[in-house]
Parts: sequence; structure tokens; C-alpha cells
Amino acid sequence: MKKRVCIIYTGGTIGMEKTENGYAPGKVHLHSALNEIANMGSSTLPSFDLVEYDPLLDSSNISLQEWIQIARDIEGRYDHYDGFVILHGTDTMAYTASALSFMLDGLTKPVILTGSQIPFSEIRNDARDNLITALTLAGNYSVPEVCLYFGGLLLRGNRATKISADDLVSFDSPNYPPLAEVGVRITLEDKMIRRPGSGLKLTEFGQHQIAVLKIFPGIQFEVFENIMTEHLKGIVIEAFGAGNIPDSQGTMQKLLERAKRNGTIVVVCTQCLKGSAIIGEYEVSEELAKAGAVSGYDMTVEAAVAKLYYLLSMGYNIETVKRLMAENLRGELTKVL
Ligand code: ASP
Repeated sequence: MKKRVCIIYTGGTIGMEKTENGYAPGKVHLHSALNEIANMGSSTLPSFDLVEYDPLLDSSNISLQEWIQIARDIEGRYDHYDGFVILHGTDTMAYTASALSFMLDGLTKPVILTGSQIPFSEIRNDARDNLITALTLAGNYSVPEVCLYFGGLLLRGNRATKISADDLVSFDSPNYPPLAEVGVRITLEDKMIRRPGSGLKLTEFGQHQIAVLKIFPGIQFEVFENIMTEHLKGIVIEAFGAGNIPDSQGTMQKLLERAKRNGTIVVVCTQCLKGSAIIGEYEVSEELAKAGAVSGYDMTVEAAVAKLYYLLSMGYNIETVKRLMAENLRGELTKVL
């Protein structure tokens, strides 16, 4: 039987058209590309249906609301399809991939996000290969997890990060190998792929105040004191190297004490593309340890943000959220012992 894939079109460059004010999401070129692909009668391509969002979004405008919408649309159609392809802008694709990996537990089929750097409306584009390969993977291959396909790479969604604003290979997963070799042939890296889950279970994210703070030399922590209210449920600190922060002026200490008093969960990730943040490795991370901050290990910031939303939405107490932040739940982290 011919495989069936559901395409969910949220917007992004892949379907954009040129307007007086620059590229904006559209339908015409994407529809004609899909018609052309469907009419090719290829035996390897699955048949597909299209779910189209209104309005179509530049992914800079994607919010929790759309994440929930995508997750619900997958859940509602789950039994009718062999896989799902989400067409999405590249700017926040890694965030959405991370969010879906936490919202959709127990996956038994592929959910693949893709998009392009050059739209179908341009004669030279990366849209065609990205879409056709994502469809092929979603329909015919056993990859029961949320992935991101782009520029010849199939990546675990919650390990992916956008590494280039203009190259056609725009994503990488520096701390985890690609899930497939996609060249003349497609070869899955079976050992790298998660085992199928026991059936889809959806957890919708709730609205929680979360912040990300990137450390830089000369940072004046008092600038950020006002964000440290009791409403802030979690903060991801992008620290230097292995999880280090400047400790010479003592002002970080005040900020961390305030976080502790307010019950704000502090997660430490590294600014480096590769490697792990481990609190306690260097003396300069001592303040973080004292404040009860959690090591984010080799998680991307995108995954750390999504995981905070997820764990806070599960209604766990603070200690449980902290403990689970440092555990591997969906293949998003490698714990260093
Ligand atoms: N601004 C676009 C978006 O994220 C960029 C892209 O799709 O490549 O929707």
C-alpha cells in the first residue's frame, strides 16, 4: 500500500513570494510545486495531504500557540498517516523541533521539520530537495522521533541548531551525529535513532515566564536584576566554556540569591557550539553550585528552553524539575558523570 504523509505548512521561506516589503509567506508557488511533485507518479514518494495554517507565518512569529496547534494537528491525524512533515521557517525551526520532541512523547512514526533558505518561487532553490527528501524519509523510513531535515542532513530535532543565515546547509547538531547519511542513497544510522515509543501522548505547554541570559566579559549583572521576579520560573544561562561565569564583582551572586529565593530554576548551558556545561568543574562556577543551579550538559539552548516549558507544564515541584532538567528524557542530552 502507498505510504501516506501529512504535510503541515506553517509558513517560512520555503513558500515565500517576493513583495514590495521583502519576502512574505504565500501559497501559489508551494501549491504548484506540490501539484507537480504529486503528478510525477513516483513509486518511492508517499502520497500526501496538506494542512495549511492561516495566517502563514514567518517563523520569527512562532509562539507557544503554534507549537500547541502543530502538536494537536499531529495527534488528531496520527493514526491516518505513516509520518508527518512540518514546513517551517528556519529562524526558529530548532526551537519548534525541540518543543515538539517534548510535547509528543511515545512517537512511533517520524515527525520531520524542514524548510529552505531559497523559496520555491525562485528558479534556483533548496526547497525542492528539502521537501522531497523529507517526504521520502517521513513515508518510508523508520525514524520514530522528531527530526529536522535540511541540506542533506537528517538531525535529531532537539539536538539541532541553526548555524548559518545564508548557507544551504544551515543546521547542524554539533553534539550528536546525524541520524542518516543522505547522498545518492539514504542510509539510516540505526544505532543513533531512538526506539519506537509505546504510543503518542501529548503534553501541551502552558505559559510560563522563561528567560535566556548570555554572559559576556564585563557583564553588569545589575542590568538584569529587574527580570528576576517571582514570576520568572526558569532562566537558561549561556555561560562560558564548561559552565563558567565571571565572579569578581559579587553581583552575579546577588542575582542568583534572588533566583533561589523566588524559586526560579537556573539552568547552565555553554555558549560553545560543542561540548558540555558542568557546574563545579572550575572554581568560577562555584556561585552557580551554591545557588542550586542545574548543569545543562551538552543541551542546546533551544532544547533547554523547550524542556523548561515542558517540565513546568507537567506541574512538578521545583526539585523534580531540577532533577529532570539534568536527565536525558528525549535524547536531548548526554550526561557527564
Ligand atoms: N525568516 C524566515 C523564517 O524563519 C527564514 C527562513 O525560513 O529561512 O520564517
